[in-house]
Amino acid sequence: MFKKVETTMNFVPIENAIIDFWNKEQIFKKSIENRKDAPNYVFYEGPPTANGMPHAGHVLTRVVKDLIPRYKTMTGYKVDRKAGWDTHGLPVELEVEKQLGISGKPEIESYGVEDFIKKCKNSVFTYEQEWRKMTERVGFWIDMDNPYVTYNNTYIESVWWALKEIFKKGLLYKGNKVVPYCPRCGTSLSSHEVAQGYKEVEDPSVFVKFPVAGKENTYFLVWTTTPWTLPSNVALAVKSDYTYVLVEHNDERLILAEGRLEVLDGEYTVIDKFTGEELVSTNYEPIFPFFEEEKDKAYRVVTADFVTLEDGTGIVHIAPAFGEDDSRVGHEHGFPVLQPVDEEGKFTEKVSPWAGMFVKDADRGILKDLSNRNILYKSQKYKHSYPFCWRCDTPLLYYGRSSWFIKTTAIKDRLLEINKKINWHPEHIRDGRFGNFLENLIDWCLSRERYWGTPLNIWVCEDCGHQHSVGSIKELKELSKEPIGDIELHKPYVDDVIITCSKCNGDMKRVPEVIDCWFDS
Ligand SMILES: [Zn+2]
Ligand SMILES: [Zn+2]
Repeated sequence: MFKKVETTMNFVPIENAIIDFWNKEQIFKKSIENRKDAPNYVFYEGPPTANGMPHAGHVLTRVVKDLIPRYKTMTGYKVDRKAGWDTHGLPVELEVEKQLGISGKPEIESYGVEDFIKKCKNSVFTYEQEWRKMTERVGFWIDMDNPYVTYNNTYIESVWWALKEIFKKGLLYKGNKVVPYCPRCGTSLSSHEVAQGYKEVEDPSVFVKFPVAGKENTYFLVWTTTPWTLPSNVALAVKSDYTYVLVEHNDERLILAEGRLEVLDGEYTVIDKFTGEELVSTNYEPIFPFFEEEKDKAYRVVTADFVTLEDGTGIVHIAPAFGEDDSRVGHEHGFPVLQPVDEEGKFTEKVSPWAGMFVKDADRGILKDLSNRNILYKSQKYKHSYPFCWRCDTPLLYYGRSSWFIKTTAIKDRLLEINKKINWHPEHIRDGRFGNFLENLIDWCLSRERYWGTPLNIWVCEDCGHQHSVGSIKELKELSKEPIGDIELHKPYVDDVIITCSKCNGDMKRVPEVIDCWFDS
Protein backbone atom coordinates (compact mmCIF):
# COMPACT_ATOMS: atom_id res chain seq x y z
CA MET A 1 0.00 0.00 0.00
CA PHE A 2 1.07 3.63 -0.56
CA LYS A 3 1.76 5.97 2.32
CA LYS A 4 -0.93 8.48 3.03
CA VAL A 5 -0.19 11.85 1.39
CA GLU A 6 -0.27 14.72 3.86
CA THR A 7 -1.92 17.96 2.72
CA THR A 8 0.94 19.91 4.30
CA MET A 9 3.51 17.99 2.32
CA ASN A 10 6.67 19.78 1.15
CA PHE A 11 7.84 18.37 -2.19
CA VAL A 12 11.42 19.58 -2.08
CA PRO A 13 12.71 17.28 0.69
CA ILE A 14 10.83 14.35 -0.86
CA GLU A 15 12.43 14.95 -4.25
CA ASN A 16 15.85 15.30 -2.67
CA ALA A 17 15.36 12.08 -0.76
CA ILE A 18 14.48 10.26 -4.00
CA ILE A 19 17.54 11.70 -5.76
CA ASP A 20 19.74 10.57 -2.85
CA PHE A 21 18.24 7.11 -3.07
CA TRP A 22 18.79 6.96 -6.85
CA ASN A 23 22.41 8.05 -6.40
CA LYS A 24 23.19 5.73 -3.52
CA GLU A 25 21.63 2.68 -5.10
CA GLN A 26 22.76 3.63 -8.65
CA ILE A 27 19.26 3.10 -9.93
CA PHE A 28 19.91 4.50 -13.43
CA LYS A 29 22.82 2.10 -13.89
CA LYS A 30 20.76 -0.79 -12.58
CA SER A 31 17.90 0.08 -14.93
CA ILE A 32 20.29 -0.79 -17.76
CA GLU A 33 22.14 -3.73 -16.17
CA ASN A 34 18.91 -5.40 -15.08
CA ARG A 35 17.82 -5.49 -18.69
CA LYS A 36 21.04 -6.77 -20.22
CA ASP A 37 19.26 -9.19 -22.54
CA ALA A 38 16.28 -7.00 -23.29
CA PRO A 39 15.81 -5.35 -26.70
CA ASN A 40 17.68 -2.06 -27.12
CA TYR A 41 16.12 1.34 -27.21
CA VAL A 42 18.90 3.83 -27.87
CA PHE A 43 18.74 7.45 -26.81
CA TYR A 44 21.37 9.97 -27.88
CA GLU A 45 20.55 13.33 -26.44
CA GLY A 46 20.13 16.26 -28.83
CA PRO A 47 23.09 18.19 -27.48
CA PRO A 48 22.78 21.45 -25.55
CA THR A 49 25.65 23.94 -25.26
CA ALA A 50 27.53 24.19 -21.98
CA ASN A 51 29.01 27.63 -22.60
CA GLY A 52 25.81 29.18 -21.30
CA MET A 53 23.86 28.73 -18.08
CA PRO A 54 20.90 26.34 -18.19
CA HIS A 55 17.54 28.09 -17.88
CA ALA A 56 13.89 27.21 -17.36
CA GLY A 57 13.42 26.32 -21.03
CA HIS A 58 16.05 23.62 -20.68
CA VAL A 59 14.12 22.11 -17.77
CA LEU A 60 11.18 21.58 -20.10
CA THR A 61 13.26 19.91 -22.82
CA ARG A 62 15.11 17.74 -20.30
CA VAL A 63 11.87 16.55 -18.75
CA VAL A 64 10.59 15.54 -22.19
CA LYS A 65 13.92 13.87 -22.95
CA ASP A 66 13.49 11.82 -19.78
CA LEU A 67 9.87 10.91 -20.34
CA ILE A 68 10.25 8.75 -23.46
CA PRO A 69 13.34 6.73 -22.40
CA ARG A 70 11.83 6.20 -18.93
CA TYR A 71 8.63 4.88 -20.49
CA LYS A 72 10.68 2.55 -22.68
CA THR A 73 12.63 1.31 -19.64
CA MET A 74 9.38 0.64 -17.81
CA THR A 75 8.06 -1.37 -20.74
CA GLY A 76 11.10 -3.65 -20.64
CA TYR A 77 13.69 -2.15 -22.98
CA LYS A 78 17.38 -1.76 -22.22
CA VAL A 79 17.79 1.97 -22.65
CA ASP A 80 21.31 3.36 -22.93
CA ARG A 81 21.11 7.10 -22.63
CA LYS A 82 24.08 9.06 -23.90
CA ALA A 83 24.55 12.75 -23.18
CA GLY A 84 25.95 15.07 -25.83
CA TRP A 85 27.50 18.52 -25.96
CA ASP A 86 27.08 20.96 -28.80
CA THR A 87 30.40 22.77 -28.86
CA HIS A 88 30.96 24.52 -32.19
CA GLY A 89 29.72 27.68 -33.75
CA LEU A 90 29.18 31.36 -33.62
CA PRO A 91 27.90 31.53 -30.01
CA VAL A 92 31.21 30.12 -28.78
CA GLU A 93 33.27 32.39 -31.01
CA LEU A 94 31.40 35.47 -29.83
CA GLU A 95 31.99 34.60 -26.16
CA VAL A 96 35.70 34.26 -26.85
CA GLU A 97 35.79 37.51 -28.82
CA LYS A 98 34.25 39.23 -25.80
CA GLN A 99 36.65 37.53 -23.43
CA LEU A 100 39.64 38.66 -25.51
CA GLY A 101 38.24 42.13 -26.05
CA ILE A 102 38.37 41.77 -29.83
CA SER A 103 35.62 42.01 -32.41
CA GLY A 104 35.26 40.81 -35.97
CA LYS A 105 37.26 38.66 -38.32
CA PRO A 106 40.25 40.93 -39.03
CA GLU A 107 41.00 41.09 -35.29
CA ILE A 108 40.64 37.31 -34.94
CA GLU A 109 43.06 36.81 -37.83
CA SER A 110 45.64 39.08 -36.26
CA TYR A 111 45.18 37.38 -32.88
CA GLY A 112 45.88 34.06 -34.65
CA VAL A 113 43.37 31.42 -35.72
CA GLU A 114 45.11 28.58 -33.89
CA ASP A 115 45.14 30.39 -30.55
CA PHE A 116 41.60 31.54 -31.15
CA ILE A 117 40.16 28.08 -31.69
CA LYS A 118 42.09 26.80 -28.64
CA LYS A 119 40.32 29.44 -26.57
CA CYS A 120 37.02 28.37 -28.10
CA LYS A 121 37.69 24.78 -27.17
CA ASN A 122 38.55 25.71 -23.59
CA SER A 123 35.44 27.79 -23.13
CA VAL A 124 32.80 25.27 -24.12
CA PHE A 125 32.49 23.51 -20.76
CA THR A 126 32.31 26.65 -18.64
CA TYR A 127 28.92 25.77 -17.17
CA GLU A 128 29.10 21.98 -17.22
CA GLN A 129 28.76 21.72 -13.43
CA GLU A 130 25.61 23.85 -13.45
CA TRP A 131 24.22 21.62 -16.19
CA ARG A 132 25.00 18.49 -14.19
CA LYS A 133 23.33 19.91 -11.11
CA MET A 134 20.21 20.96 -12.97
CA THR A 135 20.03 17.64 -14.82
CA GLU A 136 20.19 15.64 -11.61
CA ARG A 137 17.76 17.92 -9.81
CA VAL A 138 15.02 17.54 -12.44
CA GLY A 139 15.47 13.76 -12.36
CA PHE A 140 16.78 13.40 -15.91
CA TRP A 141 18.66 10.12 -16.28
CA ILE A 142 21.49 10.45 -18.78
CA ASP A 143 25.10 9.26 -18.88
CA MET A 144 27.00 12.52 -18.52
CA ASP A 145 30.30 10.79 -17.75
CA ASN A 146 30.68 9.45 -21.29
CA PRO A 147 29.14 12.10 -23.49
CA TYR A 148 29.68 12.58 -27.19
CA VAL A 149 31.20 15.96 -27.95
CA THR A 150 30.76 17.62 -31.32
CA TYR A 151 34.32 18.97 -31.42
CA ASN A 152 35.94 15.53 -31.08
CA ASN A 153 37.60 14.07 -34.16
CA THR A 154 35.37 11.01 -33.98
CA TYR A 155 32.27 13.15 -34.11
CA ILE A 156 33.61 15.39 -36.88
CA GLU A 157 34.42 12.25 -38.84
CA SER A 158 30.79 11.17 -38.56
CA VAL A 159 29.67 14.55 -39.82
CA TRP A 160 32.19 14.31 -42.67
CA TRP A 161 30.85 10.88 -43.55
CA ALA A 162 27.30 12.23 -43.71
CA LEU A 163 28.34 15.23 -45.81
CA LYS A 164 30.27 13.01 -48.19
CA GLU A 165 27.16 10.86 -48.72
CA ILE A 166 25.20 14.02 -49.51
CA PHE A 167 27.99 15.23 -51.82
CA LYS A 168 28.04 11.91 -53.69
CA LYS A 169 24.34 12.30 -54.39
CA GLY A 170 25.04 15.69 -55.94
CA LEU A 171 23.10 17.47 -53.23
CA LEU A 172 25.94 19.57 -51.80
CA TYR A 173 26.74 22.47 -54.09
CA LYS A 174 28.30 25.88 -54.22
CA GLY A 175 25.94 28.58 -55.35
CA ASN A 176 25.92 32.32 -55.64
CA LYS A 177 22.74 33.33 -53.95
CA VAL A 178 21.43 36.23 -52.03
CA VAL A 179 21.67 35.07 -48.43
CA PRO A 180 21.06 36.70 -45.08
CA TYR A 181 24.42 37.93 -43.87
CA CYS A 182 25.62 39.33 -40.56
CA PRO A 183 28.10 42.12 -41.31
CA ARG A 184 29.55 42.03 -37.79
CA CYS A 185 30.10 38.27 -37.69
CA GLY A 186 31.14 38.33 -41.35
CA THR A 187 29.14 35.26 -42.30
CA SER A 188 25.92 34.21 -43.94
CA LEU A 189 23.20 32.59 -41.86
CA SER A 190 20.61 29.92 -42.53
CA SER A 191 16.88 30.54 -42.68
CA HIS A 192 16.27 28.90 -39.29
CA GLU A 193 18.85 31.18 -37.69
CA VAL A 194 17.21 34.20 -39.29
CA ALA A 195 13.83 33.08 -37.96
CA GLN A 196 15.15 33.48 -34.40
CA GLY A 197 15.98 37.14 -34.70
CA TYR A 198 13.01 39.10 -36.06
CA LYS A 199 12.27 42.39 -34.35
CA GLU A 200 9.75 45.13 -34.92
CA VAL A 201 11.66 48.17 -36.20
CA GLU A 202 11.06 51.49 -37.89
CA ASP A 203 12.76 51.81 -41.24
CA PRO A 204 12.54 54.60 -43.78
CA SER A 205 9.70 54.25 -46.25
CA VAL A 206 10.58 56.41 -49.20
CA PHE A 207 9.12 57.29 -52.57
CA VAL A 208 11.78 58.15 -55.11
CA LYS A 209 11.41 59.69 -58.57
CA PHE A 210 13.39 57.99 -61.33
CA PRO A 211 13.62 60.35 -64.37
CA VAL A 212 12.23 58.79 -67.57
CA ALA A 213 14.94 59.07 -70.23
CA GLY A 214 14.29 61.70 -72.88
CA LYS A 215 11.06 62.95 -71.27
CA GLU A 216 11.44 66.14 -69.38
CA ASN A 217 9.89 66.43 -65.95
CA THR A 218 8.52 62.86 -66.08
CA TYR A 219 9.35 60.24 -63.45
CA PHE A 220 8.67 56.67 -62.41
CA LEU A 221 7.53 56.78 -58.80
CA VAL A 222 9.24 53.98 -56.87
CA TRP A 223 8.95 52.86 -53.25
CA THR A 224 11.69 51.36 -51.11
CA THR A 225 12.48 50.70 -47.44
CA THR A 226 16.20 50.27 -48.07
CA PRO A 227 17.53 53.54 -49.51
CA TRP A 228 21.08 52.18 -49.19
CA THR A 229 20.34 49.72 -52.02
CA LEU A 230 19.46 52.53 -54.45
CA PRO A 231 23.04 53.07 -55.71
CA SER A 232 22.93 49.41 -56.83
CA ASN A 233 19.70 49.80 -58.78
CA VAL A 234 19.78 48.39 -62.32
CA ALA A 235 16.13 48.11 -63.31
CA LEU A 236 12.53 48.86 -62.42
CA ALA A 237 9.96 46.07 -62.39
CA VAL A 238 6.26 46.33 -63.20
CA LYS A 239 3.59 43.66 -63.50
CA SER A 240 2.64 43.05 -67.11
CA ASP A 241 -1.15 43.06 -66.69
CA TYR A 242 -1.49 45.90 -64.18
CA THR A 243 -2.76 49.27 -65.34
CA TYR A 244 -0.31 52.13 -64.93
CA VAL A 245 -1.13 55.81 -65.15
CA LEU A 246 0.70 58.97 -66.07
CA VAL A 247 -0.49 61.76 -63.80
CA GLU A 248 0.01 65.50 -63.67
CA HIS A 249 0.81 66.29 -60.06
CA ASN A 250 2.57 69.29 -58.44
CA ASP A 251 3.73 70.56 -61.84
CA GLU A 252 5.41 67.32 -62.74
CA ARG A 253 4.45 64.03 -64.35
CA LEU A 254 4.60 60.76 -62.45
CA ILE A 255 4.05 57.15 -63.54
CA LEU A 256 2.68 54.63 -61.05
CA ALA A 257 0.10 51.83 -60.83
CA GLU A 258 -3.52 52.96 -61.03
CA GLY A 259 -4.24 50.78 -58.00
CA ARG A 260 -1.72 52.73 -55.91
CA LEU A 261 -2.78 56.32 -56.63
CA GLU A 262 -3.57 56.64 -52.92
CA VAL A 263 0.13 57.20 -52.18
CA LEU A 264 -0.01 60.62 -53.84
CA ASP A 265 -0.55 63.55 -51.49
CA GLY A 266 -2.96 66.09 -52.95
CA GLU A 267 -4.57 66.74 -56.32
CA TYR A 268 -3.61 64.96 -59.52
CA THR A 269 -4.95 64.54 -63.04
CA VAL A 270 -4.65 61.27 -64.93
CA ILE A 271 -3.47 62.07 -68.44
CA ASP A 272 -2.64 58.65 -69.82
CA LYS A 273 -2.97 54.93 -69.10
CA PHE A 274 -0.98 51.88 -70.18
CA THR A 275 -0.41 48.29 -69.20
CA GLY A 276 2.77 47.18 -67.50
CA GLU A 277 3.67 45.35 -70.69
CA GLU A 278 3.60 48.62 -72.62
CA LEU A 279 6.16 50.14 -70.26
CA VAL A 280 8.69 47.38 -70.84
CA SER A 281 12.09 48.54 -72.12
CA THR A 282 11.42 52.19 -71.30
CA ASN A 283 14.76 53.65 -70.26
CA TYR A 284 15.33 55.86 -67.25
CA GLU A 285 18.23 57.88 -65.90
CA PRO A 286 20.25 56.25 -63.10
CA ILE A 287 19.68 58.29 -59.94
CA PHE A 288 23.31 57.95 -58.84
CA PRO A 289 26.45 58.46 -60.93
CA PHE A 290 28.53 55.70 -59.28
CA PHE A 291 28.28 53.08 -62.03
CA GLU A 292 28.53 55.19 -65.21
CA GLU A 293 30.32 52.34 -66.98
CA GLU A 294 27.23 50.10 -66.71
CA LYS A 295 24.89 52.59 -68.28
CA ASP A 296 24.33 50.69 -71.52
CA LYS A 297 23.60 47.41 -69.76
CA ALA A 298 20.98 48.57 -67.29
CA TYR A 299 18.33 51.12 -66.30
CA ARG A 300 15.21 49.96 -68.08
CA VAL A 301 11.76 48.65 -67.19
CA VAL A 302 11.11 44.90 -67.04
CA THR A 303 8.17 42.79 -65.85
CA ALA A 304 8.18 40.58 -62.77
CA ASP A 305 5.58 38.36 -61.10
CA PHE A 306 6.36 39.43 -57.55
CA VAL A 307 5.20 43.02 -58.08
CA THR A 308 2.02 43.58 -56.05
CA LEU A 309 -0.40 46.37 -55.26
CA GLU A 310 -0.28 45.76 -51.52
CA ASP A 311 2.10 48.60 -50.83
CA GLY A 312 4.43 50.90 -52.72
CA THR A 313 3.61 52.16 -56.20
CA GLY A 314 3.40 49.01 -58.31
CA ILE A 315 6.92 49.76 -59.56
CA VAL A 316 9.72 47.89 -57.81
CA HIS A 317 13.35 48.94 -57.66
CA ILE A 318 15.66 46.07 -58.61
CA ALA A 319 19.14 45.65 -57.06
CA PRO A 320 20.38 42.14 -57.93
CA ALA A 321 23.15 42.32 -55.32
CA PHE A 322 20.71 42.62 -52.43
CA GLY A 323 17.55 40.63 -52.99
CA GLU A 324 16.61 37.11 -53.96
CA ASP A 325 13.88 38.19 -56.39
CA ASP A 326 16.12 40.96 -57.67
CA SER A 327 18.92 38.53 -58.26
CA ARG A 328 16.65 36.28 -60.33
CA VAL A 329 15.39 39.18 -62.43
CA GLY A 330 18.95 40.40 -62.92
CA HIS A 331 20.03 36.97 -64.05
CA GLU A 332 17.14 36.62 -66.51
CA HIS A 333 17.88 39.92 -68.21
CA GLY A 334 21.66 39.88 -67.95
CA PHE A 335 21.81 42.97 -65.75
CA PRO A 336 25.10 43.67 -63.97
CA VAL A 337 25.34 43.00 -60.23
CA LEU A 338 26.39 46.29 -58.67
CA GLN A 339 27.89 45.45 -55.26
CA PRO A 340 29.48 48.49 -53.56
CA VAL A 341 29.22 47.08 -50.01
CA ASP A 342 32.14 45.37 -48.27
CA GLU A 343 32.24 42.39 -45.91
CA GLU A 344 31.56 44.58 -42.90
CA GLY A 345 28.43 46.07 -44.41
CA LYS A 346 30.10 49.38 -45.27
CA PHE A 347 30.07 51.26 -48.56
CA THR A 348 33.24 50.91 -50.62
CA GLU A 349 35.03 53.76 -52.43
CA LYS A 350 32.67 53.16 -55.33
CA VAL A 351 29.97 55.03 -53.42
CA SER A 352 32.30 57.84 -52.47
CA PRO A 353 30.04 60.17 -50.44
CA TRP A 354 29.32 57.41 -47.91
CA ALA A 355 32.43 55.26 -48.27
CA GLY A 356 33.33 53.50 -45.01
CA MET A 357 29.88 54.04 -43.52
CA PHE A 358 27.62 51.15 -42.38
CA VAL A 359 24.95 51.06 -45.07
CA LYS A 360 21.96 51.44 -42.78
CA ASP A 361 23.59 54.46 -41.17
CA ALA A 362 24.00 55.96 -44.64
CA ASP A 363 20.22 55.92 -45.28
CA ARG A 364 19.79 59.38 -43.82
CA GLY A 365 22.53 60.94 -45.93
CA ILE A 366 21.23 59.26 -49.06
CA LEU A 367 17.74 60.65 -48.47
CA LYS A 368 19.14 64.12 -47.89
CA ASP A 369 21.02 63.89 -51.16
CA LEU A 370 17.92 62.73 -53.08
CA SER A 371 15.93 65.52 -51.50
CA ASN A 372 18.55 68.15 -52.45
CA ARG A 373 18.33 66.97 -56.03
CA ASN A 374 14.52 67.09 -55.90
CA ILE A 375 13.99 63.41 -56.73
CA LEU A 376 12.66 62.39 -53.32
CA TYR A 377 8.86 62.45 -53.51
CA LYS A 378 8.33 61.78 -49.82
CA SER A 379 9.90 60.00 -46.89
CA GLN A 380 8.05 58.38 -44.01
CA LYS A 381 8.68 55.87 -41.26
CA TYR A 382 7.58 52.31 -41.75
CA LYS A 383 7.09 49.76 -38.97
CA HIS A 384 7.87 46.22 -39.98
CA SER A 385 9.65 43.17 -38.66
CA TYR A 386 13.27 42.96 -39.70
CA PRO A 387 15.81 40.18 -39.00
CA PHE A 388 18.73 40.73 -36.65
CA CYS A 389 21.67 38.41 -35.99
CA TRP A 390 20.48 35.91 -33.36
CA ARG A 391 23.87 36.07 -31.67
CA CYS A 392 25.13 39.63 -31.89
CA ASP A 393 21.99 41.66 -32.61
CA THR A 394 23.35 43.38 -35.71
CA PRO A 395 20.74 44.03 -38.43
CA LEU A 396 21.21 41.43 -41.16
CA LEU A 397 21.76 42.43 -44.76
CA TYR A 398 20.81 40.39 -47.81
CA TYR A 399 23.92 39.91 -49.93
CA GLY A 400 24.73 38.01 -53.04
CA ARG A 401 27.48 35.72 -51.78
CA SER A 402 28.88 32.44 -52.84
CA SER A 403 28.02 29.83 -50.24
CA TRP A 404 27.66 26.05 -50.00
CA PHE A 405 24.16 24.65 -49.90
CA ILE A 406 22.49 21.33 -49.21
CA LYS A 407 19.81 20.86 -51.81
CA THR A 408 17.05 20.08 -49.31
CA THR A 409 14.46 21.13 -51.89
CA ALA A 410 15.33 17.97 -53.85
CA ILE A 411 13.72 15.85 -51.13
CA LYS A 412 10.92 18.22 -50.20
CA ASP A 413 8.10 15.88 -51.31
CA ARG A 414 9.54 13.04 -49.26
CA LEU A 415 9.88 15.29 -46.20
CA LEU A 416 6.26 16.38 -46.53
CA GLU A 417 5.12 12.80 -46.92
CA ILE A 418 7.00 11.63 -43.82
CA ASN A 419 5.88 14.63 -41.79
CA LYS A 420 2.29 13.47 -42.30
CA LYS A 421 3.12 10.24 -40.49
CA ILE A 422 4.84 11.84 -37.49
CA ASN A 423 2.88 11.63 -34.27
CA TRP A 424 3.13 15.32 -33.37
CA HIS A 425 2.22 16.69 -29.93
CA PRO A 426 0.50 19.07 -30.09
CA GLU A 427 -0.98 17.84 -33.33
CA HIS A 428 -1.37 21.25 -34.99
CA ILE A 429 2.43 21.57 -35.31
CA ARG A 430 2.35 18.98 -38.11
CA ASP A 431 0.43 21.15 -40.57
CA GLY A 432 1.16 24.38 -38.73
CA ARG A 433 4.59 25.55 -37.80
CA PHE A 434 6.55 22.54 -39.04
CA GLY A 435 4.36 21.85 -42.07
CA ASN A 436 4.64 25.48 -43.13
CA PHE A 437 8.39 25.34 -42.73
CA LEU A 438 8.53 22.32 -45.05
CA GLU A 439 6.12 23.85 -47.58
CA ASN A 440 8.39 26.89 -47.84
CA LEU A 441 11.59 24.90 -47.76
CA ILE A 442 14.65 26.47 -49.35
CA ASP A 443 18.08 24.94 -49.79
CA TRP A 444 20.09 24.86 -46.57
CA CYS A 445 22.83 27.48 -46.53
CA LEU A 446 25.45 25.28 -44.89
CA SER A 447 28.75 27.14 -45.00
CA ARG A 448 29.95 29.70 -42.48
CA GLU A 449 32.88 32.00 -43.13
CA ARG A 450 34.13 31.52 -39.59
CA TYR A 451 36.73 29.53 -37.61
CA TRP A 452 35.38 27.34 -34.81
CA GLY A 453 33.32 24.64 -36.47
CA THR A 454 33.38 21.40 -38.40
CA PRO A 455 35.49 22.25 -41.46
CA LEU A 456 33.56 21.74 -44.68
CA ASN A 457 35.17 18.58 -46.07
CA ILE A 458 35.52 19.61 -49.69
CA TRP A 459 38.83 19.99 -51.49
CA VAL A 460 38.96 21.83 -54.81
CA CYS A 461 41.64 21.51 -57.49
CA GLU A 462 43.42 24.78 -58.11
CA ASP A 463 44.06 23.85 -61.74
CA CYS A 464 40.94 22.11 -63.05
CA GLY A 465 38.33 22.91 -60.40
CA HIS A 466 37.61 19.26 -59.63
CA GLN A 467 35.92 18.81 -56.24
CA HIS A 468 36.39 15.97 -53.81
CA SER A 469 34.69 15.33 -50.48
CA VAL A 470 36.82 13.57 -47.86
CA GLY A 471 34.82 11.27 -45.59
CA SER A 472 37.28 10.17 -42.89
CA ILE A 473 40.72 10.66 -41.34
CA LYS A 474 41.86 7.47 -43.04
CA GLU A 475 40.89 8.83 -46.44
CA LEU A 476 42.51 12.17 -45.65
CA LYS A 477 45.79 10.42 -44.80
CA GLU A 478 45.66 8.32 -47.95
CA LEU A 479 45.06 11.29 -50.21
CA SER A 480 47.39 13.80 -48.57
CA LYS A 481 50.44 14.79 -50.62
CA GLU A 482 52.61 14.93 -47.50
CA PRO A 483 52.40 12.22 -44.85
CA ILE A 484 50.34 13.38 -41.88
CA GLY A 485 50.40 12.04 -38.35
CA ASP A 486 47.80 12.78 -35.69
CA ILE A 487 45.69 15.60 -36.93
CA GLU A 488 42.96 17.57 -35.25
CA LEU A 489 40.08 18.08 -37.69
CA HIS A 490 39.82 21.81 -37.19
CA LYS A 491 40.99 25.01 -38.78
CA PRO A 492 43.82 25.90 -39.22
CA TYR A 493 45.28 22.35 -39.18
CA VAL A 494 43.14 20.74 -41.92
CA ASP A 495 43.74 23.72 -44.18
CA ASP A 496 47.38 22.69 -44.48
CA VAL A 497 46.49 19.32 -46.00
CA ILE A 498 46.95 19.33 -49.77
CA ILE A 499 45.53 16.55 -51.89
CA THR A 500 46.62 15.52 -55.38
CA CYS A 501 43.89 15.91 -57.98
CA SER A 502 42.79 12.59 -59.46
CA LYS A 503 41.89 14.30 -62.74
CA CYS A 504 44.95 16.43 -63.49
CA ASN A 505 47.52 15.82 -60.72
CA GLY A 506 47.17 19.43 -59.62
CA ASP A 507 47.01 20.56 -56.00
CA MET A 508 43.66 20.44 -54.26
CA LYS A 509 43.03 22.72 -51.30
CA ARG A 510 40.22 22.67 -48.80
CA VAL A 511 37.54 25.35 -49.17
CA PRO A 512 37.96 27.88 -46.33
CA GLU A 513 34.51 27.53 -44.76
CA VAL A 514 33.27 25.70 -41.70
CA ILE A 515 29.69 24.48 -41.47
CA ASP A 516 26.55 25.58 -39.68
CA CYS A 517 26.79 24.18 -36.13
CA TRP A 518 23.11 23.24 -36.40
CA PHE A 519 24.22 20.52 -38.79
CA ASP A 520 26.47 19.08 -36.06
CA SER A 521 23.71 19.06 -33.51
ZN1 LIG B 1 26.24 38.62 -35.90
ZN1 LIG C 1 42.62 18.96 -61.16
